[in-house]
Amino acid sequence: MQTMGLNEIREKYLAFFESKGHMRQPSFSLIPEGDASLLLIGSGMAPMKPYFSGEAKPPAKRMTSCQKCVRVIDIEQVGKTSRHCTFFEMLGNFSFGDYFKREALSWTWELYTKVMGIDPERLYPSVYLEDDEAWEIWVREIGVPESRVVRLGKEDNFWEMGSGPCGPSSEIYFDRGGENGCGSPDCKPGCDCDRFIEVGNNVFTQFSNDGDGNYTPLAQKNIDYGGGLERLAMVVQGVGSVHEIDTFQKIMRHAERVSGVKHGESAKTDISLRIITDHIRSTVMLICDGVQPSNEKRGYVLRRLLRRAARHGRLLGVTKPFLCDLAETVIEESGEAYPELRRRAETIRTVIRIEEERFSKTIDAGLALLREEIGHLRGPKKLLDGDQVFMLYDTYGFPVDLTLEILREHGLDFDRKRFDERMEQQRRRAREARAELGISGWATLDLGLDKDIATDFAGYDTLRCDAAVLASVENVLVLDKTPFYAESGGQCADTGVITGSGGTFRVDGVKKSADGKILHIGEITEGAFDAGQTVFAAVDGERRAAVARAHSATHLLQKALRDLLGDHVEQAGSQVEPDRVRFDYTHFAALTPEQIKQVNRTVNEHILLGHPAVIESMSPEAAKERGAMALFSEKYGDTVRVVSMGDYSIELCGGTHLDNTAKAGSFRITTEGSIAAGVRRIEAVTGLVALELAQMFDERLRAASEQLKTTPGEFAERVTFFLSEHKRLQKENTALQTKLAGGFAEKLLNDACEVNGFTVITAQNPDAASLRPNGELLRDKCAGVVAVLYADEGGKLTFCAVCGAEAVKRGVKAGEIVKTVASLCGGSGGGRAEMAMAGGQRGAAPNGDRGTGFDCVEEAFEQVRKILMEKGR
Ligand code: ATP
Ligand code: MG
Repeated sequence: MQTMGLNEIREKYLAFFESKGHMRQPSFSLIPEGDASLLLIGSGMAPMKPYFSGEAKPPAKRMTSCQKCVRVIDIEQVGKTSRHCTFFEMLGNFSFGDYFKREALSWTWELYTKVMGIDPERLYPSVYLEDDEAWEIWVREIGVPESRVVRLGKEDNFWEMGSGPCGPSSEIYFDRGGENGCGSPDCKPGCDCDRFIEVGNNVFTQFSNDGDGNYTPLAQKNIDYGGGLERLAMVVQGVGSVHEIDTFQKIMRHAERVSGVKHGESAKTDISLRIITDHIRSTVMLICDGVQPSNEKRGYVLRRLLRRAARHGRLLGVTKPFLCDLAETVIEESGEAYPELRRRAETIRTVIRIEEERFSKTIDAGLALLREEIGHLRGPKKLLDGDQVFMLYDTYGFPVDLTLEILREHGLDFDRKRFDERMEQQRRRAREARAELGISGWATLDLGLDKDIATDFAGYDTLRCDAAVLASVENVLVLDKTPFYAESGGQCADTGVITGSGGTFRVDGVKKSADGKILHIGEITEGAFDAGQTVFAAVDGERRAAVARAHSATHLLQKALRDLLGDHVEQAGSQVEPDRVRFDYTHFAALTPEQIKQVNRTVNEHILLGHPAVIESMSPEAAKERGAMALFSEKYGDTVRVVSMGDYSIELCGGTHLDNTAKAGSFRITTEGSIAAGVRRIEAVTGLVALELAQMFDERLRAASEQLKTTPGEFAERVTFFLSEHKRLQKENTALQTKLAGGFAEKLLNDACEVNGFTVITAQNPDAASLRPNGELLRDKCAGVVAVLYADEGGKLTFCAVCGAEAVKRGVKAGEIVKTVASLCGGSGGGRAEMAMAGGQRGAAPNGDRGTGFDCVEEAFEQVRKILMEKGR
C-alpha cells in the first residue's frame, strides 16, 4: 500500500467523520478568542469549550475539525522523544449531547484500522480504571483481545484541565516495538518511554468540575476525540518519529542544505535539526495568527521559539539568518490546508527576518559571555548570578528560558530571585518611561511598503476617522489616513487607540518616516491587524487639547519676549507637551524677576483678549510679507502653513493649535535659565496645570506660615525675625561653650593625680562632640599632662588621649595610650603623639562580662597608669 502524506491523512480523517454526519469546521486561530485563561490554543476542544459547557449552542451536534495547537510545555521534549512537537495539528471529532462511547470508540477503531490501514495487532486501547462500560465496548463489541486493553488511573485516563467539562477517557496507543522501549518489565501503554505512543484520545466529557474538585454530571454527555495528526502520520507512514514524516522531512532537508549537516550524523546535531524543524513550524503558525515577538505572554513564547531555533542553527555552524528562508518551506507544505499562510506569507517572512537579524547581532557575544561564565562556575558555586542572566536577557536578547536551558546542559542553574528583582525594576522603569517610548530602529524598519505610499494626515480637521491598514510590523501600524499627529516641530505626538474587527492597537507615540509615512508606535493589546483591514483611529482628545494650549501659548510667549527684549530673540528649539512647554531662545542675559513677571503678564493678557487663531496656507513669500516668524529648523515647501493669533502673533507652524487663545486658560513661567552661551531656556505651564501650580505654592506657604504661627501676608517678616534671632542665639551659644570648656578643663586639672611626675587625668566627657576640643584645651594648658577623656553614648565609647609637650618629650605617645585603652574596651584607634582618638564598646570588652561592678574603662585607665609608672624620668 502506498503511504499517505500528512495532508492526505488530514483530509481522509475529516472526510471520514463527515461521512458519519459531522459538520466540518476550519481551525480556530491559535490565539484564544474570549478566553483570558489561555495563552494559546493547545487542543481541539479548547476553542469549543462553550459548546461543551452548554454556554453556547454549537452549529451542529456532530462536528469535526483539525485544530492548530501549540504546547510550549512540551518544548523540552522536542527533538528528544519521537512524538512531541511544539506546534501540531489535532484531529478532532466532537459530539455535543449526541452519540457517546459506543459510536465514538468503534469509529475510532474503524478509522485507524480500515481507513488508515494500521495493523490492529499493534494498537492498545486504554480505559479509565473504573470505566467498565468502555472496557466492555473494546473487548466485547469491537473485539480487541482482553490482553491488549489496559486500565489506567486518573493521571492517564481522566481528562480535566482546571475547571470546566471533564470526564474519563480512552486512549489508543501504538506499539513501536520493544527496541524503542525503556526495557522495564512494567513497560506498558501509559509508560513515559517511547515504545507505546499515544496516538489519540477519546474523552467522555460527562462531568463539570467547579475548580474545587466537585464533579456534577453535565446535562448532556459529550465526546471529544483528539489525536495528533503528526503522530497518526508517523504510524501510518511507518517511520520512527514525527520528524520523519513527509512534511517535516521537506523542512529538515532544507535545514540540512543550509547547515551542511545531515540528519543521522550525530545524536547532538540530530536534536538541533529536529528542534529547528519543529520550531520553525510553530514560529510560522504563531506569526500567521497575529502573534508578534515580544517579551511578554504569547510574544515571549514566539521569541523564545525563534531564538531557540536560531541558537541551534549556531550549534550546527550556521552563522547567517536562515529561519526566514526555512519559513518558505513551511508555508509551501501547509499553505493548502491553511490558506492564511499564503495570504500572510510576506508578513511572516518579514517578522522572522527582523527578529532573527536582531538576535544575530548579539547571539555570538551572548553565547561567548555565557561560556565564560559557565567556565567560572565550575566550582562549588553552581548558580549563575541573576544579574548576569538579566544582562543576557536585556542586552543580548537571550530569553531567560534559553539561558536556563544552556545552563542545565552543564548541570547548572541561576539565581532566580535576583533575576526576578531586576525584571521587576525594569518593568517599573518601562511603565514610567512608556510616555517616552523607546522603540529603537523604527526609522529603518522594513514595512514592506512602496516608497511613494504616504499617509494622509487628517488630524488638522478631525480627531477620529476610518482608515485602512497598510502594514503591521513589530509594534508599528501604518494606515492610509490618520488623525494622529506625528512628533515634529517640537510638538509631541498624539496618543490614542486604533480599533478594528481584528483587534486593538494602543498608540503610544507617532513618528513620521522620511518618505512620508506616519508610523503609529505602540502595542497590539488584542488580536491582530492585516493589511487591507478597515480600522477606526481615535486620538485622545483631551490630551490633544492640552498640547494645543501649550503650543498656542508658546507663540504668544515668543512674541512677548521679542517685544520686551528685542528682535534678536529667536526660537532655538522647543518642546511642546500637554500643558507644558520648554522654549529655548537666543538672548544674552538672564531675565530679571521683573522681566519674568512682565512676560507672564503679557502672555496672560493676550490669552484674555481671546484672539481667534487662524490657520492659512500661502506661499513663503506671502507669509514673509505678512511678517510671519519662521520657526527654527523647519523645512518649507511651496506653500507654508501660517498660524496667526489676532494681530498679535503670526508664525509659520505645522502644529495643532487652539481656535482661540482664551482656551489656553492661563500661563505661568516655572523656570528660566541658561543652556548654552547666548541661549536661554524658559519652562512654562498652561491651563489647569498653571492653576494647580499656583495652588501648590499657596498651600506650601499656608502650611509654612502656620508652622511659624503667622499669616502668609506676614510670613516674610516673620522669617527675617527668626533668622536674626537664630544668629544671636548661635553667638551666645559659642560663648557659653567656650566658658564651659574652660571651667571643665580647670576642674579636671585641679582633680588630676600625679603619677611618676606626669599630671594624669582620666575622666568622662559630657559628649563625644566636645571630646577633642576639651582634650586639646588640657594639652595646651599643661605641658606635663597625660589625659584620657571618654564619652559614653549608650555603651558606645569614644576616647581621646592627649599628651602635653613635656610628656611627649619623656616618650609618652597619645596614639599608643589610646590604642591600649581601646584594645581593652573592645575597640581600636590611634593617632599622633600629642593627640589621638579611638572607639570602643562596653559590651564588647575582650575580658568579658565579670559581673556587675566591672568596668572595662576603669581597668583600661589602671593600665595607663601602670604604663606611665614605667616611664623613665
Ligand atoms: P503525551 O503524553 O504523549 O504527551 P498527552 O497526554 O499530552 O500526550 P493529550 O493531551 O491527550 O496528549 O492530547 C491528545 C493528542 O494530541 C495526543 O493523543 C497526541 O496525539 C496529540 N499530542 C499531544 N501533545 C502533542 C505534542 N506535543 N506533539 C504532537 N502531538 C501531540
Ligand atoms: Mg503531553
